[in-house]
Amino acid sequence: MKPHPFPLGAPGTCTLVGAGPGDPELLTLKAIKAIQQASVLFVDDLVSAEIVAFARPDARIVYVGKRGGCKSTPQSFIEKLMLTAVREGETVVRLKGGDPFIFGRGGEEVEHLREAGIEVEVVNGITAGLAAVTSLGVPLTHRAHAHGVVFVTGHAKPGDSGTDWRMLAATAHSARLTLVIYMGVSGAQHIQDELLAGLPAATPVAVIQNASLPTQRHIATTLGMLACDIRLSAIASPSIIVVGDVVAGLAQAAAHLGAARSA
Ligand code: SAH
Repeated sequence: MKPHPFPLGAPGTCTLVGAGPGDPELLTLKAIKAIQQASVLFVDDLVSAEIVAFARPDARIVYVGKRGGCKSTPQSFIEKLMLTAVREGETVVRLKGGDPFIFGRGGEEVEHLREAGIEVEVVNGITAGLAAVTSLGVPLTHRAHAHGVVFVTGHAKPGDSGTDWRMLAATAHSARLTLVIYMGVSGAQHIQDELLAGLPAATPVAVIQNASLPTQRHIATTLGMLACDIRLSAIASPSIIVVGDVVAGLAQAAAHLGAARSA
């Protein structure tokens, strides 16, 4: 008789866990508990080693990100691996940077697993946009400057026309919204050019790299100087670009600090 492709025991479980922006202290208690209970962990690129260290010593850890300059594991293959592990009765945790449902394709993973009849639990994490801006002491909304916030990707799906930056700029301007742009550094020149159609060149912008990690750094600039200052400072991925009046104080604070230092 042909062996059954999967053991016929009880299926395992699957939890998508938000690992937060990098600092292990920003994990939720629920996330730590899930990581500690996992027998198999599928780990994304931006998840730090200190967080993976919460796993049981006997847990199987599978890295599926673009480590060491290699291409990342295709999404469909990751989903297949997760499915197989659940069917084999494993306690599967999919560890994703930030929040699993803010970019990073967590929604697609859940859809595919549910289509295969597997229930997925999702544990929130602190998304990078939130942590990046808060780490500078800046609020994302403010009764005086920003009535709302938009989380938007700077990186379109291949073949997709991507974000309508002009429309977004006009809306952000009239509705007074803060823009929090993920994956925007490599397309910064295009984003800048398009946003300038609806927002003034003097609009304050901050770019924060490696938020919440010891390597965190940021620049404070304006929309008109964004791409140029990114090049000059060599700030790179992973970074969050924040556009809006809420970051206005940063450039002034930096200028004061610079003046005080050179005095
Ligand atoms: N799900 C994640 C986002 C995944 S998309 C979240 O909720 O945070 C990957 C992008 O997130 C990166 O290109 C970068 O724009 C941003 N990012 C992730 N971690 C970051 C960090 N520590 N500092 C700055 N940006 C970060």
